[in-house]
Amino acid sequence: MWTRKQIVNPWTELGIVEPSDSMERGERLRVLDVLANYINTCTKCYLGTIRDPEKILPLYMGNPEAKIMLVGKAPAYHELRTGKLFAGKSGDELAWFLNMAGLAEYGIYICNACCCRAINDGQLKTKQIKSCRAHLLMQIDVVQPDFIVAMGDAAAHALLGKKMRVGEERGKVFEKYGAKLIVTYHPALYTRSTVEVEERNKEEGLKDWVFLKELIDGKDNSDAEPAGTAD
Ligand code: SF4
Repeated sequence: MWTRKQIVNPWTELGIVEPSDSMERGERLRVLDVLANYINTCTKCYLGTIRDPEKILPLYMGNPEAKIMLVGKAPAYHELRTGKLFAGKSGDELAWFLNMAGLAEYGIYICNACCCRAINDGQLKTKQIKSCRAHLLMQIDVVQPDFIVAMGDAAAHALLGKKMRVGEERGKVFEKYGAKLIVTYHPALYTRSTVEVEERNKEEGLKDWVFLKELIDGKDNSDAEPAGTAD
């Protein structure tokens, strides 16, 4: 069984007490606030050294007591402009999937694999994903979700500790971080296609969100996969 002791423990670096299993909402918000401030000064990887200091990096959005955690890639132009994650078209796509799968009413916490904006056409390097992984795992520490969705290759890499292709891992359930973890495509994928292709792709992508709903409802018939080995 996973416990936070198994991961790198950077809490002392932030000067705050490690989260307990029974954190009240206010305490969760306070700890996330400390982490949000921290990532805005972080220079652990190259992305932090080229960041625009005028722009606030949003760490997360949603409910810190949520049982569902969604993990995307990294903030993009609209996220930095508004200070909110999934502020652009990909947010519209994500909302569509959540609505269509009957998940819109659930408490959800959303964050990213990488806290700084990616360069090079949005591609993240392994080093950047590894550098920021501690921040992602700290959020899992605080939120303690029952279900985690890795949206896209970068999130799957960060959460499962190895490079993988989402198309080959969809439909599997990984037992990880005390949660059931599944992978799906990043919602931004659906903003880049023609209308016809987008509709076909979205029908396919929707299956992953319906699968999540079935897992939550206890209707999963799939075999659990062994977890990644990064810890
Ligand atoms: S991407 Fe993450 S690890 Fe790299 S500088 Fe930004 S906050 Fe720090």
